Amino acid sequence: MSLKTRNALVTGSTSGIGLAIARALAKEGANVCLNGFGDAAAIEAERAGLEKDFGVRAIYSGADMSKPAEIAAMVKEAEAKLGSVDILVNNAGIQFVSPVEDFPVEKWDQIIAINMSSVFHAVRAAVPGMKARKWGRIVNTASAHSLVASPFKSAYVTAKHGVAGFNKTMALELATFGITSNCISPGYVWTPLVEKQIPDTMKARNLSRDEVINNVLLTAQPTKQFVTVEQVAALALFLCSDAASQITGANISMDGGWTAA
Ligand code: NAD
Repeated sequence: MSLKTRNALVTGSTSGIGLAIARALAKEGANVCLNGFGDAAAIEAERAGLEKDFGVRAIYSGADMSKPAEIAAMVKEAEAKLGSVDILVNNAGIQFVSPVEDFPVEKWDQIIAINMSSVFHAVRAAVPGMKARKWGRIVNTASAHSLVASPFKSAYVTAKHGVAGFNKTMALELATFGITSNCISPGYVWTPLVEKQIPDTMKARNLSRDEVINNVLLTAQPTKQFVTVEQVAALALFLCSDAASQITGANISMDGGWTAA
């Protein structure tokens, strides 16, 4: 597969899953617009690295995905600098864990904005160009929590279920325009965020590394193994291929069996 003629925008791609997806798309030849927060020098090193490693054009937008006007401007900027947005990966997301009665109102609003409403704003801005070119790929990083719930994650579970519903609506609306819309729903993915929790949890609970992984982190995941960011990126890449042109409106689990239970 080659994506040499394609331009991709990946939200939340300065770290974790989004960065792996951006790298996988660039490796197949797509030009890429990175987005997300982080250390400016580290982001610039990633951007320049994509250009050097894969011979593609890579740009960066610092748009805040909780701000509709910044999202629309980011899509316009990517279209102006790269020529189009053919592939839109809606990936930016945050988490907050709290009993509902203590859940800070501003955290609820932030999670709904970043994890859910940003998907609407980005798709709304990118679809006219995709329709005009009669080709588009929308890939949403949803979650096992778009299909099932866990306690204390009310905003996250609500937002991800919202993304799953929006995804199906887009598949129907855009079906005759050569545009597909799909969700990838990972279980626990091995990201620096997860890895960093292990030593502290070992100390706090007096557990071994394996016990923390199996009995604390991966209680819900039957394989007792993390998904890797490369595995999520490989599925995203496949959904962008012509072989996947009839996959639309799907919500594809990659969760070690979590949602089979
Ligand atoms: P991460 O923290 O490594 O990456 C999140 C990215 O989103 C970063 O680039 C960050 O800068 C960006 N971001 C956060 N707030 C933003 C904002 N307001 N504007 C722009 N960018 C913003 O996390 P990750 O694990 O790679 O998660 C990526 C996506 O995958 C999220 O939507 C998350 O819900 C989903 N997901 C993660 C897991 C997991 O176990 N890690 C499982 C299922 C789903």
